[in-house]
Amino acid sequence: MTTGAARDSAAPRRDPDCLFCRIVAGEIPSTKVAEDDLVIAIRDIAPRAPTHVLIMPRDHVASAADLTDEHAALVGRIFATAAEIARSEGIADGGYRIVTNIGAWGGQTVDHLHFHLMGGRAFTWPPG
Ligand code: AMP
Ligand code: ZN
Repeated sequence: MTTGAARDSAAPRRDPDCLFCRIVAGEIPSTKVAEDDLVIAIRDIAPRAPTHVLIMPRDHVASAADLTDEHAALVGRIFATAAEIARSEGIADGGYRIVTNIGAWGGQTVDHLHFHLMGGRAFTWPPG
């Protein structure tokens, strides 16, 4: 068990009011694509691309604004998991996008850190 390796021991691991904490705990159903000791990946309930997967830590972190050096292993795992899923979804060769929204103006609607892995179509830049 290494679930505590990338978290601040003073921070709570779970927020009882958090939708994604409840998904991690299995209290709300989701379609899991990958999981390990640090992260889980689920299909977005309202996909905006042919592949739209959310990769998130098991432990509660409100957003990327709360990441520190202590989360280095977690962040590495998130991006390694994203690359692996991109390959298994068949979108790696065409290219894809990974994005995390922070706060109201960033478009964040769920306050539990997650990275959108989106692919299967071309994206414009800058995003809207
Ligand atoms: P964001 O707006 O960046 O915070 O992303 C939140 C994402 O969570 C949105 O793309 C939603 O469609 C997605 N979402 C909300 N509820 C669920 C759920 N129960 N299962 C899977 N994805 C969800
Ligand atoms: Zn949470």
